[in-house]
Amino acid sequence: MEKPDRAATSATTTVAFSVLTKPTGAVCNLDCKYCFFLVKEKLYPGSNFRMSDDVQESYIRQMLKSQSGPEVTVAWQGGEPTLMGLDFFRRSIELEKRFREPGTKVLNTMQTNGVLLNEEWCEFLCENNFLVGLSLDGPREMHDAYRVDKGGQPTFHKVLRSARLMQKHKVDFNILTTVHAANGEHPLEVYRFLRDEVGTQFIQLIPIVERINERGEVGNQEGSRVTDRSVKPDQWGRFLITIFDEWLRRDVGKVFVQMFDAALASWVGAPPAMCIFSETCGDAVALEHNGDLYSCDHFVEPKYLLGNIQSQPLVQLVASAPQRRFGADKRDTLPRYCRECEVRFACHGECPKNRFILTPDGEPGLNYLCAGYMAFFKHIDHPMKIMAELLRRGRYADEVMGILAAEEAKLAQAVARAGRNDPCPCGSGRKVKRCHGAPAVS
Ligand code: SF4
Ligand code: SF4
Repeated sequence: MEKPDRAATSATTTVAFSVLTKPTGAVCNLDCKYCFFLVKEKLYPGSNFRMSDDVQESYIRQMLKSQSGPEVTVAWQGGEPTLMGLDFFRRSIELEKRFREPGTKVLNTMQTNGVLLNEEWCEFLCENNFLVGLSLDGPREMHDAYRVDKGGQPTFHKVLRSARLMQKHKVDFNILTTVHAANGEHPLEVYRFLRDEVGTQFIQLIPIVERINERGEVGNQEGSRVTDRSVKPDQWGRFLITIFDEWLRRDVGKVFVQMFDAALASWVGAPPAMCIFSETCGDAVALEHNGDLYSCDHFVEPKYLLGNIQSQPLVQLVASAPQRRFGADKRDTLPRYCRECEVRFACHGECPKNRFILTPDGEPGLNYLCAGYMAFFKHIDHPMKIMAELLRRGRYADEVMGILAAEEAKLAQAVARAGRNDPCPCGSGRKVKRCHGAPAVS
């Protein structure tokens, strides 16, 4: 899972890093069918899965004392962090006040399923300027397909209620939508629902790719088959493209889709602010309830355990050779097919956890979602170039909407003047009758 979308933190080491902290470990009050966290409970048999006061204090102290930047992010994640209860978070705020360096601002973020949020929670979150990530997979039937509680009951109504409560209390929140078999064919319905009915301006889209290993188990990064719930590569591409086209027509500058912002950064030549699209990674570690630190939230597995922050300093673990290697491997293990890819600058092979298929010439390590990303990044090239140029000139990216509308109008006039068998003025190489002059499909 991603953390709510804001800047990463930095450390007094030369390594800038962020920590996703799981105070209840993998424990959650829901039983989402695609959740990879639940199987992680097996890592800690007999544990009560509650972060102790000692670990909490050690984490906050180390996080705040290791910073040299003006802002530090304390990111709470699950499992379901609200299961810790409000007092745990009240204490965190007190610890932050105690350990914060003068002049340092602390941003608290929390990723939640929203089920436990009530008036008291929302007052707390607002007072303390939390940025909340709320998990919602679209309209009722798409959300409830997989996001069910321990009794298998739907949760949509509870999540929507918590979104309304947060709006009432002016809590700053994003929507995190996972894309899977149940909503993958309905991009516009999902996007319009989030924009128009939920009324959110900030959206994160996460593809569900659940690998199955040779023993038929799901949950670790093993195996080259995926579950039926997983989004398909071309479906993922179409999902992104369809939403992008709608966003480009009317929402640039009004709705913020994290993936589109990251892509624009790549076209501008800036860091994409999403680890999956960076050349290397390794700067977003995961902290378990007992202080164990892992290479990444997606690699909470014994072989990626870096150590425990109560016996070794957090910054040392993040800067350790194994962790630097983990991050560099994202770049160094790219197959040739990716190294020679024309959209590598934006994709960088996406996340290593999804690299388990063969390239067309048989090399292992290609991303399962490659076909989707390839289609998406090629599709957005022209508008991204326009937006990047606007930004370089100190103008606003939303001017792209007017520029493209004018281009479309000009093309429509040229098509109207052309004969049906002429080459299409768009430059596709097809005849007008098979391209922009073809009858509209209803
Ligand atoms: S493995 Fe790397 S790219 Fe993938 S989620 Fe973890 S930090 Fe990000
Ligand atoms: S689009 Fe495919 S080939 Fe290109 S960098 Fe991404 S995963 Fe590799």
